[in-house]
Amino acid sequence: MGLIVQKYGGSSVGNIKRIKRVAERIAKTAEQGNQVVVAVSAMGDTTDELVSLARAIHPDPPHREFDMLLATGEQVSISLLAMAIQAQGHDVISLTGAQCGIQTTQVHKKARIESIQTGRLNLELGEGKIVIVAGFQGINADNDITTLGRGGSDTTAVALSAALDADRCEIYTDVDGIYTADPRKVETARKLDAISYDEVLEMASLGAQVLHPRSIELARKYQVPLVVRSSFSDNPGTEIIEVNQLEKVSVRGISLDDNIAKITIIEVPDRPGVAFALFSRLAQEHVRVDTIIQSAHRNTVNDISFTVNDEDNEQALSITTAYAAEIGAERVLHDPDVCKLSVVGTGIAGNTDVAAKLFGSLSELGINIQMISTSEIKISCIVSQPEGLKAMQHLHDVFELGSSSPE
Ligand code: ASP
Ligand code: MG
Repeated sequence: MGLIVQKYGGSSVGNIKRIKRVAERIAKTAEQGNQVVVAVSAMGDTTDELVSLARAIHPDPPHREFDMLLATGEQVSISLLAMAIQAQGHDVISLTGAQCGIQTTQVHKKARIESIQTGRLNLELGEGKIVIVAGFQGINADNDITTLGRGGSDTTAVALSAALDADRCEIYTDVDGIYTADPRKVETARKLDAISYDEVLEMASLGAQVLHPRSIELARKYQVPLVVRSSFSDNPGTEIIEVNQLEKVSVRGISLDDNIAKITIIEVPDRPGVAFALFSRLAQEHVRVDTIIQSAHRNTVNDISFTVNDEDNEQALSITTAYAAEIGAERVLHDPDVCKLSVVGTGIAGNTDVAAKLFGSLSELGINIQMISTSEIKISCIVSQPEGLKAMQHLHDVFELGSSSPE
């Protein structure tokens, strides 16, 4: 018995039959004596469809209206799910982000949750109701609807768990848990029983799109016990826990992020403040910059390359082009056909073999590494997009991550 927060993704509530099945799972959790709060995504591909509608009307939809539109997807799924639960004889109420007190920062399309006023939630729970909350949305200080970035419902669930001090947060999706690599791309990928917050954070932000990265940051910060499971089976899923509770391995998984683009600014004047000016302008517009390299300088100039998410690509390119013109850089190059390949594991820091093995394997395949970045628990390489898949499959074998390899 306790307070359980569950989150169901778009595919789990993709049609009426699935909504009914999810309702049964929620009802069962309540019948076991738990208080249940549920965060839900929009049905199936609804959000993508809403994005296309907006783009068909306006080439760069005004951000406030864009959020207004996108937030409707979740309003459909929460009301239908609440009806399905009601039909099974349980007391239930659906709440939008605003109704449930989810306060966010001002910025549209990628707002961050600042606080949750839990008054209404506690009131409804106190009356014995199951509470169904619209994921991915909140309200800012102007009382405008904001959204949390694509995939943001995970973050809603974790933030609710933290605010309510839930005993457990269960993320239901269409896969069994977190794998050593994307099982759709690597046949021998193996489901992990457990992974650390840090490792899964790297895997998620590196493109293994299981969880919204912000949700893991929050889970780690507030020590929310998290599990990722399938809504289509009773498999136990993958627990996400602190690293000291885990068996130490050097490489836990391989991830591939196709949704990035590389921008290079050629022959930038080599003087203090240039990188600062460029990257602070990008930051001001909330463009998330990832791997950055600056070449060794030639005479008075050098080149700066960096990667951004596809989502931020156009904005990043226009900011960079404008800045390049201002400071008299030679030109700006843009390459959307790159991807980021990473090996992730808590043991990487203390193990120089991993880097050698990684670079060696890529060279065996004749793959050129365009950029490299490292952290305590990962090594990433930017390579050309058509080579990414083959490289990931090969590395999965090289690091013996597959189901047939010795544990
Ligand atoms: N419906 C939103 C999206 O597709 C949020 C989510 O599903 O987490 O991005
Ligand atoms: Mg998702």
